[in-house]
Amino acid sequence: MLDWSDTETAAASVASAPALVTAPRPATRLKLEPVDPTGLGTIDRTGGRVSVDEKRMINCRADVNQLLPLKYKWAWEKYLAACNNHWMPTEVSMQADIALWKSRDGLTEDERRAIKRNLGFFAASESLVANNIVLAIYRRLTNPECRQYLLRQAFEEAVHTHTFQYIVESLGLDEGELFNMYREVPSITDKAAWALRHTQHLDDPSFQTGMPEGGQAFLRDLVAFYVVFEGMWFYTGFAQILSLGRRNKMVGIAEQYQYILRDESIHLNFGIDVINQIKIENPHFWTPAFQEEVRGMIREAAELETAYGRDTMPRGFLGLNAGLCEQYMHFIANRRCAQIGLAAVFAETENPFPWMSEAMDLKKEKNFFETRVIEYQNGGALGWE
Ligand code: MN
Ligand code: FE
Repeated sequence: MLDWSDTETAAASVASAPALVTAPRPATRLKLEPVDPTGLGTIDRTGGRVSVDEKRMINCRADVNQLLPLKYKWAWEKYLAACNNHWMPTEVSMQADIALWKSRDGLTEDERRAIKRNLGFFAASESLVANNIVLAIYRRLTNPECRQYLLRQAFEEAVHTHTFQYIVESLGLDEGELFNMYREVPSITDKAAWALRHTQHLDDPSFQTGMPEGGQAFLRDLVAFYVVFEGMWFYTGFAQILSLGRRNKMVGIAEQYQYILRDESIHLNFGIDVINQIKIENPHFWTPAFQEEVRGMIREAAELETAYGRDTMPRGFLGLNAGLCEQYMHFIANRRCAQIGLAAVFAETENPFPWMSEAMDLKKEKNFFETRVIEYQNGGALGWE
């Protein structure tokens, strides 16, 4: 099917007409050229090569289809670290969990309620996070190395959603009940709806990141999903399940949550780096009024989590109750504020779950966890917060 003679002819005609290829374009065309943040625009045949200095997080005019030269090494390093962490939920045995779930008195009713609501919260949340990456963030982030990480993160969210499918199937849970909780359980719906507002704003066809209003809307979405959803709400969710795992309950799910937590801690840190880099490049977005607004978002998000905690654990059980979860949320919220350069929103408090930082370091858990996934890891490739 290939016509080689045509190719030669084309090559020859290019060679014989170098003036056409290098002809400078009129200066006025540059001004009229629309910004193409997506990479879907017409290929610029006459433009110059990309220089590192032209690269920007948002509103970049440099070609977004060229990964190299790299500007943001932190984004590339997170992409490599994420690839080193590859895992699949089906690698984890569910035998002990199935036996415990089916046993008559291995779990209390309160524990069952907390587990189911926790799974229900995560099951839909992974999809909401994935949608936000693919349908909102990716379009507006005009940097190819950040996009490279986003593509990896999107796959990880698919692996996380797969985890909940695998758990539902293994334990024989009611899939309709679990996957509809984000619609049917008000304390879960309230969280999902709060975050979704910010994605919906970015979906407006007239939305642009060029003006401060657009740039701030983009930052709000990054805060809602990276700082709040993945960086606050997921953490209390991890604490609930890992606290059961520490008592030798639902150890298969606990192991899967540790892998998810390892992924999410990179998602969170990527989001924080993105926010801080956008702040550096667009200091006029980060006004005192806007900082107050973001602090308000974080405070509001912590209150939604507190309500969810009370609903999920009306009585609490060994090692875990709504009060401790609220304290943990305040501790985490203050920490997230510090990470994006904001003053704390709650009174200083101790971390009620100090074991959570150990749970993040899988290398310390070799006796308990299978070594297969750990072997993928390059020593020292990850920097835990
Ligand atoms: Mn996830
Ligand atoms: Fe994530």
